[in-house]
Amino acid sequence: MHDTELYRCLLGIEQPWTVEEVTLDLAEQRVDVWAGHKEEVRWPCPECGAMMPTYDHAPERTWRHLDSCQFKTFLHARPPRVQCTEHGVLQVKLPWADAKARFTLLFERLAIEVLKETDILGATRILRVSWDEAWHILERAVERGLARKKRKICPQIGVDEKSVGKGHTYITLVCDLKASTVEHIADDRKQTSLDSYFTGLSEEQKEAIEAVAIDIWDPYLASIKAHVAHAEDKIVFDRYHLMTHLGKAVDDVRKKEHRALEKEGDGTLTGSKYLWLYARENLPEKHQERFSLLKALNLKTARAWAIKESFRDLWSYTHRGWAYRHFKKWYFWATHSRLQPIIEKARMMCKYLHNILNYFEHPITNAVSEGLNSKIQTIKKMAYGFRNREHFKTAIYFHCGGLQLYPEVPTE
Ligand SMILES: [Zn+2]
Repeated sequence: MHDTELYRCLLGIEQPWTVEEVTLDLAEQRVDVWAGHKEEVRWPCPECGAMMPTYDHAPERTWRHLDSCQFKTFLHARPPRVQCTEHGVLQVKLPWADAKARFTLLFERLAIEVLKETDILGATRILRVSWDEAWHILERAVERGLARKKRKICPQIGVDEKSVGKGHTYITLVCDLKASTVEHIADDRKQTSLDSYFTGLSEEQKEAIEAVAIDIWDPYLASIKAHVAHAEDKIVFDRYHLMTHLGKAVDDVRKKEHRALEKEGDGTLTGSKYLWLYARENLPEKHQERFSLLKALNLKTARAWAIKESFRDLWSYTHRGWAYRHFKKWYFWATHSRLQPIIEKARMMCKYLHNILNYFEHPITNAVSEGLNSKIQTIKKMAYGFRNREHFKTAIYFHCGGLQLYPEVPTE
């Protein structure tokens, strides 16, 4: 087999295109392939499809293609142009690459596969492309995916904020809790941030919303109430966020008590911060002995912890009525605890009890998308070089958007 014919097959180049020349540069470890076509070929106008002869050629362009063994491989061609009576002089569509791409479709597909599995830096090493090139492929994949995205019904959504970088910059994420995908990302965590999701929905989509899981955050509450009918019965305060609020109260009690004990030279609570924050069944075994001893002491922190853990039992009920009874008892205990941070959180729970108990009609939580959250954490940690919020958003859509990212490769 002649080397030009070999590359025609390898590149999947079809009529009317042929491979005219192949060069191998051992020193540079690269293969260069030139594609061309016969004179008399007729091409479809990219706008209307009318067939016409070659008008002229655009200057030669180069596309990176899949490697030939360890050799980087580049495809060169002069894209033909046609002169359509209706649409003027236009470049014809090339079978191996998108209009402005610097990579062939097959290379882009491979790059997307790689980018899904690793961070940008890893992809630059595997694919031997620059950071900007790798990022550009990812960005184009997201653009493609968002453009193809069809309207869909999401009956159960979760709304959450994520901080960007180390500053106090936030983004708002709307997740489809059933599909575990990020459906919408907006800047900040204001009412308008979430409004932008709802205003993009059709009436049918809005009516289909059955339940929304959120943390207690007034701007989100206001937005949901403004856009979703019967919102009061559909908003479910996320149990993991609620437990985080109580965990914070326990920690406040611990800090204060620790300071007081330390003044008397008592280091009982030193280094115990995280022990009190675990759910009791999740406490690692190596800490169990110390924790049992701590619990047995007459500590304010231990009392606060017990109150926190008792709140968790709320979700073990199957009926709203029983959960409500449990809450009443718990509330009495918490508000009579003489532990100020606990009392404050107990009042907050009482204020929002209706939405907390909505869980029993709509057992949803943002942690259903636990996989999603850990993915987003990984994206944050990855050396993505988030020079800005837009990069973070694009990466979330890439990894969590459930989008169709791949360019379509023409089949024979
Ligand atoms: Zn035309």
